[in-house]
Parts: sequence; structure tokens; C-alpha cells
Amino acid sequence: MVDSWVWPRAAYIHIPFCAHKCGYCDFASLAGVDHLADRYLTALESEMARMGTPQPVETIFVGGGTPTRLDAGQLRRLLAMIGRWFLLEPGGEWTVEANPGTLDEEKADVLAAGGVNRVSLGAQSFQPGLLQALERNHAPEEVGRALDWIRPRFPYWSFDLIFGVPGSTLPLWEADLETALSLGPAHLSCYGLVYEKGTALWKQWQAGQVREVDEEAERAMYEHTIDRLRQAGLLMYEISNFARPGHESRHNLIYWANDAYFGVGVGAARYVGGVRSVNTRDLPAYLRRIEEGREATGPIETLEPEAHARETAVLMLRRTIAGIDRSDFMRRTGFDLDELAGPTLKKYVGRGLLEEDGNRVRFTREGLFLADSVLCELV
Ligand code: SF4
Repeated sequence: MVDSWVWPRAAYIHIPFCAHKCGYCDFASLAGVDHLADRYLTALESEMARMGTPQPVETIFVGGGTPTRLDAGQLRRLLAMIGRWFLLEPGGEWTVEANPGTLDEEKADVLAAGGVNRVSLGAQSFQPGLLQALERNHAPEEVGRALDWIRPRFPYWSFDLIFGVPGSTLPLWEADLETALSLGPAHLSCYGLVYEKGTALWKQWQAGQVREVDEEAERAMYEHTIDRLRQAGLLMYEISNFARPGHESRHNLIYWANDAYFGVGVGAARYVGGVRSVNTRDLPAYLRRIEEGREATGPIETLEPEAHARETAVLMLRRTIAGIDRSDFMRRTGFDLDELAGPTLKKYVGRGLLEEDGNRVRFTREGLFLADSVLCELV
């Protein structure tokens, strides 16, 4: 059997359509181009067909953009083509991202009938004012309504929340978490807001029109998240992800192990046979290239062994429970972790930001708050 870090056991499919472009969004997503959806699906199938033969996989993730922006017929077509080219093995995980404002009962039926068994819902906040600051175009009550369709149909589901939104405070974030918990999730992703260069929010911030939440308040929000979710039985298994045991996202665990994955669609990245490449983020260019029988990829990156090992260390360290297992690391990269990064690890163990038990290295609680600087030094 080929090793999972060489040949993919996971597939990512990107759907770029959105009802509206949120102010903080840096994803390959577009509003106002729904008329291109059928053409896009045809291009997606052409791109998948280039693999030559259907590929067995353990996980499929359909993300965006907003996959549920497609209409029910288009969703059905999408799932059928994915099912033809990616053969999900029994017990495999198939996730689709959904937006509370674009999911309806018919689409939920289509997803379930098509083989999807996990839905990731972009809730982001339950505070109307904060949703407005993020320029999200759904109302808080739409999350509960979407969950009424999701719960009976899918064994696994999750939603995303964002903390540190301009105008947010610790009490508002505490209230958001309580509302989230009252909905009974077994998996939650909680991300700190990032001002991505070039986004509408970043421009407003640069122009002094929005004020970022100060560092101390953001730390308090993150701290509260870790403690409150643990108390509720959702363990932090990655810097931003929390789950009841058995509900972790298997697809994302593949990314954090630096394993290989297929990627299809505009802006999609893939990592196959040690080679990483990314498709163009320009939708018209993607369509044109695929329709003309050309590759949609931009620059191809083959990482040198040491760069690959360092990247693997950074990704694995994001896993707050698993961390880096030295023997697994050696098996995957051919590098001894201590020869590669011994002084850095030692320094942070000494400062109480990392801990180790002889084999495994992982963040301490204090280290989680300074994770970015530790990870930067390992690259
Ligand atoms: S719904 Fe998601 S992908 Fe679409 S614009 Fe908003 S944040 Fe971006």
C-alpha cells in the first residue's frame, strides 16, 4: 500500500459561488456569477476525468464559497459526479459546507441522498450586530432552522464561529458560545478573526473605520472558549477545533498530518506524490483553461525534504492532543525531530510553551496563546 503522505486518501472539491461577498472573506468565492454554475460543474467533471480512473478515498470535503448556493438539481449533479470519480470507502466521511441562508429542506434531502454524512455550517455569530460587522447576510435564527433540517439527516455536523469581531466583547462572545452549546453540537470550529490583506474589512481597518478587539480581550475570549467547551465535553483537538471524541473532522486531520490530498475546482490546492499545486483563483480563467483542455494550475511546488519536514512539524503541532509523535514524524519525513528543530523545541519547552513526554511534543495551555510565534520559528 502506498503511504498516505504520498498518494491521497482525501479529496477536496471547491464551489466558489456565494450569495454575497462577506467583508472578511479571502476565499476563492464570488457573488453574482450564479449563471456560470452549470458551466462550472461541467468543468469540474472534466477536471476530475483527467485523473483517468476513479480514486478510492477515505474523506471528501466540498467547500467554498457556498456549495449550498447551487440549486437542488445542480447539487444532485455535483454529488453524482463526485461519487463517480471519488469512491468513498465504507465508513468514510463526506462533508459539505453549508450556509444557514442558502440551505433548505430540499437541498438537505439531496445532500443526504447523495451520500453526504457531515455538514459544516457557517454560523459565525448569533449576534445581529456582529454578523453585520462581518457582512454576513444571514440572520441568527436561520442557524437553528438549518439545524432542524441537518440533525435528522446527518450523523455528523459542526458549525463555525468567529471571535474577536470588531464590536465584540467577552460577554458577547460568552453569549455566542452558550447559544452554540444550546444547539447541541458535537464539533465546533472557533476562529479568531484575521484581517486578510485586500479584503473589504482589511480596507476599513486600514482606513480607521473599524477598531480591532484588543489583544487581551481576544486572549480572554480564546481562553474562555477552551475552558467552556472542555466543560461541555468538547475537547480541543486542534488550535481552532473542538469535538466530542469520535466527532473530529477526519478530513482536516489529514491536512494536519501533512498527508496527500486531491483538490479540484477554482483555487483548489492539491498535494499528490510529494508535489503541491494550486489552481488559478480566477473563475473565467479556470473555465477557459479547462474548456480548452489545458491545466488550471499555477506554479507547481516540489518541497525539498527539509522544507517538507519543517512544514510537517508545523502542521502536526497544530494538533493540540496528538502533537508531534517523534517516531511517526521520522517515518513520514525521514528526519529526526531533534536534529531538525531541537534548539527551538528546547527553548520553548524551557519557557513552558511546549511540553514533551519523551516521544510526543505539544503545546502547553500557555503555548496556545503564543502558537503563531512558535510555529513561525519552526518553518
Ligand atoms: S459565505 Fe463564506 S465563502 Fe462566501 S463570501 Fe462569505 S465567508 Fe466567503
